[in-house]
Amino acid sequence: MSAPLISIVIPVYNEEDGLQALFDRLYPALDALGETFEVIFINDGSIDRSAALLRQQFERRPEVTRIVLFNGNYGQHMAIMAGFQRARGDIVITLDADLQNPPEEIAHLVKKMQEGHDYVGTIRRKRQDSLFRRSASRMMNKLREKITHIQMTDQGCMMRAYSSDIVNVINQCAEVNTFIPALAYSFAANPTEIEVAHEERTAGESKYSLYKLIRLNFDLVTGFSVVPLQIFSLLGILTSLGSVLFLFILLIKRTISDSFIVGLGALYDRDVLGFFLIGLTLFGIGLLGEYVGRIYQQVRARPRYIIKAVLEQKIADE
Ligand code: UDP
Ligand code: MG
Repeated sequence: MSAPLISIVIPVYNEEDGLQALFDRLYPALDALGETFEVIFINDGSIDRSAALLRQQFERRPEVTRIVLFNGNYGQHMAIMAGFQRARGDIVITLDADLQNPPEEIAHLVKKMQEGHDYVGTIRRKRQDSLFRRSASRMMNKLREKITHIQMTDQGCMMRAYSSDIVNVINQCAEVNTFIPALAYSFAANPTEIEVAHEERTAGESKYSLYKLIRLNFDLVTGFSVVPLQIFSLLGILTSLGSVLFLFILLIKRTISDSFIVGLGALYDRDVLGFFLIGLTLFGIGLLGEYVGRIYQQVRARPRYIIKAVLEQKIADE
């Protein structure tokens, strides 16, 4: 098969209940485009029947389907990385396997890319997720906006289009913990955003536990900003200045009578203050640890994921 115009990259983790519905909508939507395409599924170590279903789909549409099977669970972003390594299209589009991103929107992304953009981000119209997820996302969006240069209205929507140039640059990044939409945005010369529909998950449950979500957001923050560390340096300076102030208050208190500054006593109640400062220090050390741990993972330079098998037709040398 010669290089197609469009590569669709889809990470799959335990999606057995929804995969057939995805195939039933995705392939007709792509056929309707009238452009050449390939679909690359990455099975991220599913322990259900996902791999078998993907294999069946490969047998049904072998000329446009490619399957990468990981030997374990390495996370959505690593799965997409593996998809990017193999994608051959001029336009590479990522979407989720759970049909939350309607395949019919692919046409709009392609059209926008053909207007000359190298990155098309998306904003979910009427997002269909829990109130908790929506408000937590809103908060993280705001924080990211403040501490990085990345301008995304809706960072969480993974249905996005990237030019092959951007994908090539991403392929040169050996990041262990990353957040692909942000990484791509930092390389894009002419990015834009469009609104897309968002649907409820067709089947199964979200694969992100609260813990995984927190880890992912730490990846986003630590991967793209050192502002949190700088805030701690500033807090350190402020605390030192504060301690000098307390010293003066103590001195005054000693020289004048106690009753004079009775109200001030509460200010430097040593237990409360001690708790506060210990808490602050521990938080600072923890934060530092988040960065150091990632540096450690990075310097060990172990393989980021292991591919067990690839199902694809022989690709002619180009
Ligand atoms: N996913 C994955 N590996 C993981 C977690 C998720 O490949 O460790 C895939 C999952 O199958 C889906 C996409 O990433 O295609 C988004 O996951 P999910 O829909 O659970 O996330 P949410 O929509 O709740 O943010
Ligand atoms: Mg989902």
